[in-house]
Amino acid sequence: MNQQTPSNETGRIVVVGSLNADLTIYTERLPQPGETLHGEGFTVNPGGKSANQAVAAGLLGGAVSLVGAVGQDSNGDMLLASCSAAGVDVTQVNRVAGVETGVAVVTVDAAGENSIVISAGANGTLRPADVAAAQAAFDGSSVVCLCLEVGLDTVQAAAQAGHDAGATVLLNLSPYAPVAPELASLADVLLVNAHEASQFLGGEEIPAPDAPTSDWEPVLEHFADRGLDRAVVTLGANGSVVLDGLAGSEGRVVRIAPTKVDAIDTTGAGDAFTGALAARLAAGDSLYTSAAFASVSAALAATKKGTQAAYPDETGVNEVLG
Ligand code: ADP
Repeated sequence: MNQQTPSNETGRIVVVGSLNADLTIYTERLPQPGETLHGEGFTVNPGGKSANQAVAAGLLGGAVSLVGAVGQDSNGDMLLASCSAAGVDVTQVNRVAGVETGVAVVTVDAAGENSIVISAGANGTLRPADVAAAQAAFDGSSVVCLCLEVGLDTVQAAAQAGHDAGATVLLNLSPYAPVAPELASLADVLLVNAHEASQFLGGEEIPAPDAPTSDWEPVLEHFADRGLDRAVVTLGANGSVVLDGLAGSEGRVVRIAPTKVDAIDTTGAGDAFTGALAARLAAGDSLYTSAAFASVSAALAATKKGTQAAYPDETGVNEVLG
């Protein structure tokens, strides 16, 4: 367990993981198995959980390095351009020959709900050796941001590199996969939605959105049993809950009310949350203050179509925060 130290004052964020081209069709409702529906539009946009998180943090003023892999194709060009436009350093993103850039096929319904299928492509080539090759980015970093869209051995290597650098390691257990205790114990902050939280806890029921905060104490304890003292559980339109076993100044369980918005596309809202959380932690804010900021940022991201193109800058978030 690491806390930010004075040697980490640069506030650099290292994001390790996936870049995908999002191929999105908007439909009235999501199709049933075997059913063909007419969509209302088709877009190709930059996405992938790690690229989204890096862009979200970059747009909010974070100094971000992205470690990942894309193919030598036009989708790869698009992804690197989008990251660079948000100020993200992409010098550690490999351009791999003979393999296509990762792709996510996304369907979004009229309520903004989505279903997603991913083909890893070049993301599948990212290995622990690529993490080692990016050691200079980890040196002096303050936050390392990880998700599970690349191999678990690579995630483990990145968590170890972040831990060894004295950075705060953010582990976003998405898309959910069981993780080894060694990986969980390297995470300083766990980031999960309610479904992932339940899966991580072996199917345990997560308290209802309106449950008293005391109902979250057992969840906090169960996370702590797995070596995770601090976690943020996102609850979609119901906001989020910060669980802090280290008893930050705001308390052990703190609920963050949702920012009321007209959501039209929640794709990538979780990534907007994660990137914003990373940006504010790197700037030295507490876990609660960072999560409150991230909550607004993610809500604003849900008010526009797409992922990275929908992410707000600091001015947009501060306007809502007042
Ligand atoms: P994921 O996209 O990973 O499943 P969630 O659906 O929990 O994550 O959303 C992440 C965060 O985005 C929420 O905690 C909330 O802050 C924000 N958010 C998502 N949907 C909405 C919504 N309809 N209204 C307001 N905020 C939202």
